[in-house]
Amino acid sequence: MKVLVAVKRVIDFNVKPRVKMDGSGVDLANVKMSMNPFDEIAVEEAIRLREKGVASEIVAVSIGPAKAQETLRTALAMGADRAILVQTDEEVEPLAVAKILAKIAEEEQPGMFILGKQAIDDDNNATGQMLAALLGWPQGTFASKVEAANDNVTVTREVDGGLETVKLQLPAVVTTDLRLNEPRYASLPNIMKAKSKPLATKSPGDYGVDVARRLETIKVTEPSKRQAGIKVASVDELVDRLKGLGIAK
Ligand code: AMP
Repeated sequence: MKVLVAVKRVIDFNVKPRVKMDGSGVDLANVKMSMNPFDEIAVEEAIRLREKGVASEIVAVSIGPAKAQETLRTALAMGADRAILVQTDEEVEPLAVAKILAKIAEEEQPGMFILGKQAIDDDNNATGQMLAALLGWPQGTFASKVEAANDNVTVTREVDGGLETVKLQLPAVVTTDLRLNEPRYASLPNIMKAKSKPLATKSPGDYGVDVARRLETIKVTEPSKRQAGIKVASVDELVDRLKGLGIAK
């Protein structure tokens, strides 16, 4: 079975985002960018499926600027077999991403499409669900365990009240949650090998998808600053103060 994995280039999770002076967005000039952490988990899961003999080929897909090639090379260094970059300098919204991914799925005919549950830049948590709807495939979102058999996949989902297990007919869309696995680091020899793995470059137009924005960002602001704390001299004073705040009795 072929597995497709969607990987997005986003601001690195260790970087504190700086909001642009005019409040129009986050300043990405000279900021470290990396693969969205949930997508690293998606790549890792695809590799584990191949190690179990379930997946035969892993194709990583990204939609973004030319620099997203680096993100795809990371996926290739981790173990993906080939990559597709749909190159655009536009900021592409989840619906347009899902439409492009759906076209690629129709061309590639994978057994499974694995995405992250959300991209940490815009926190949309929408693309996987939209992709499943466009394809008419079943979806297992927020996966913390994935067990694939011949024609189905069992996905354990992290839901508010605990864990929900669903069995999906393949082909299916799966989105990853944090606890699914711990992604491997790419070794130096694999980083070298990844340089010669195939990476095809396409454009949104090749898939007949219009990526013009439909959503308007009105304003982006920094979270309000936390107030400074105070030091207390003793546990008794701490308890008194907590009582004063109505936190302790
Ligand atoms: P979102 O719905 O934007 O929170 O993104 C959810 C998931 O969709 C991400 O974790 C990626 O797997 C995938 N995705 C979103 N945008 C892109 C993109 N531009 N290129 C590749 N994958 C994407």
